[in-house]
Amino acid sequence: MAVSTFSRGLKLNPRKHATEGKPTETAPFPKQVVIPVNQHFGAPNKALVAVGDRVKRGQCIADGAADGLMTVPVHASISGTVKKIEPRLQQNNTEGLCIIIEAGEEEPKQNDIELMPPLDPFSCPKEEALKRIRDAGITGMGGAAFPAHVKLNPPPDKIIDLIIADGAECEPYLTTDEAVISGKPRLLVTGLAAIMKITGVKRAIIGMEDNKASLVPALEKEIALNEYITAHSLDVTVRLCKTLYPQGGEKMLIKALANREVPSGGLPLDSGCIVQNVGTLTAIAEAFTLGKPLVDRDLTVSGGACKTPKNICVPVGTLIGDLPETFMKIDYDRLRKIVFGGPMMGNAVPFAAVPVQKNTSGIIFLTSGETKICDEGTCIRCGRCIRNCACRLSPVIINIALESGDMEEAVRAGLMDCVECGSCSFVCPAGIKLVQRFRVGKQRLKMIKSAAQHAASQEKV
Ligand code: SF4
Ligand code: SF4
Repeated sequence: MAVSTFSRGLKLNPRKHATEGKPTETAPFPKQVVIPVNQHFGAPNKALVAVGDRVKRGQCIADGAADGLMTVPVHASISGTVKKIEPRLQQNNTEGLCIIIEAGEEEPKQNDIELMPPLDPFSCPKEEALKRIRDAGITGMGGAAFPAHVKLNPPPDKIIDLIIADGAECEPYLTTDEAVISGKPRLLVTGLAAIMKITGVKRAIIGMEDNKASLVPALEKEIALNEYITAHSLDVTVRLCKTLYPQGGEKMLIKALANREVPSGGLPLDSGCIVQNVGTLTAIAEAFTLGKPLVDRDLTVSGGACKTPKNICVPVGTLIGDLPETFMKIDYDRLRKIVFGGPMMGNAVPFAAVPVQKNTSGIIFLTSGETKICDEGTCIRCGRCIRNCACRLSPVIINIALESGDMEEAVRAGLMDCVECGSCSFVCPAGIKLVQRFRVGKQRLKMIKSAAQHAASQEKV
């Protein structure tokens, strides 16, 4: 099988050995969960329950405005009583409103769940299928948490002719996508077929790195067995990409698998593609076949300070520190840094009591030997950041523009095209925190834009 790739990219130490090839283990149910009210990219939700309410696993507990296109509901992930509704630290290192549910005396159970009636995505109208995906609370599970029902309903002027199932897991340590592909190939292919029906797209590629070549035959078998794919002669293939960082980024995967460029400032749909993470596809399949909302999350827990590295399935809102030590043991003496997500793109958090969210792909407990901590030096104009940027940007130029407060120049140099992969920071010999500055720069730009919009609306009044 030919192996595709994009230009540039880093060959990182994968550090996946501790969990590679391990199936996902269902964790003992926690006695409490801390569920963020907002777990999606878009307009805010509000809590639909009050302190003291009894809730059932699967019950909707937060949602946005009924006509809010960019909102995604949130469901209780264990049955119990709402004990508090208050701000808590979240994985992005900011405080956000959370609903804290305690199970009480009863032993919480996985099958004690409020389900929707199953729905056949292959015979129901498109609007009904999209509504089901929204009602099930499905966001992109690969990182950005974009509402899945919005991604699957592009504007009519955008012609989509390719769906890519993203199984490229390029971050070190993480193996949860691999566990999903090997453990749930039928669900994955069912979810893919369902979104092909919803979007009317007739071609799809399941893409993953060449270190997962052994998983190809099982996927190809499921594709051949899928009734919708065979009955409609859909073109669904499995393709391998080089094991390079950041191969799992949407832009890189589209380049590698379709040889298309996402235009500057554009989205995958501007190059005719929809990209969905493999975990999202299995959640979509379960929303139709079981009527199950997104209340559980598969993730990798690993790192040198984790004594029991494994791929696990937990209710959304679980605090990893609440799991019994017989299942998950952290060596707090050796722990230096906790990262939610992968070490390249993830966020470091100050303590472990931060809840798992719908888009938490991993929690990595790092020792000092695994953490590069150095003082920032001065740029020596070596150009390594430029040579290693997979988006072909000039990070050093963006950084200079941001340092001098010239936002226009930063945007001209590509600030908004940066996918925040962190490769530039990783290779910078001066230890300059480039990607961190770019994240702050983007936030600043957003605030400047919304202040300008506000001022313009005030003038009209
Ligand atoms: S500028 Fe952005 S896209 Fe380029 S290497 Fe740095 S973080 Fe990655
Ligand atoms: S890699 Fe670092 S030192 Fe080298 S040019 Fe880029 S910012 Fe400067």
